[in-house]
Amino acid sequence: MKRYIPNLLLALSCLLMGSCSKDAEPRIVEAELQVYFDAFVSEAAQHQLEIDLSTLDIGGYVQTIETTGTIGQCISYTNGSKDVVVDESNWNRLDALEKEYVIFHELGHCILRRSHNDTENASGVCESIMQSGEGLCRSDYTISNRSNLLKELFTK
Ligand SMILES: [Zn+2]
Repeated sequence: MKRYIPNLLLALSCLLMGSCSKDAEPRIVEAELQVYFDAFVSEAAQHQLEIDLSTLDIGGYVQTIETTGTIGQCISYTNGSKDVVVDESNWNRLDALEKEYVIFHELGHCILRRSHNDTENASGVCESIMQSGEGLCRSDYTISNRSNLLKELFTK
């Protein structure tokens, strides 16, 4: 069974925020997101990429994102700390594979410093999970296509 995250929900963004009181607090990865952060680290390791979350000041939060249609954000603070924030109501509608997709996309920004890539293959399917969601390519993060997309994510 193929499932596509509707493009409308795929507004995945990257913000740069100035100093504010919030970024002075230690960053926390909420338990609900930790499993996906851990999966990101172990998938990276399978592509010879070593990531130690304990050395990165990166948080993960389930919150309400006020911008309509935005499901996830990577927020970079001027002091170097970063947050992945996912929109609670959208998040709760996703299955596990879709949640992984959202977190991996945002950690692609926050940890791998990847920017968007809307390259599509001959069938119109996005070749990267770093697609903007605003391009024309079609998302296909499925069990069968997952390993191709993870290879692209961690080796580009
Ligand atoms: Zn993005």
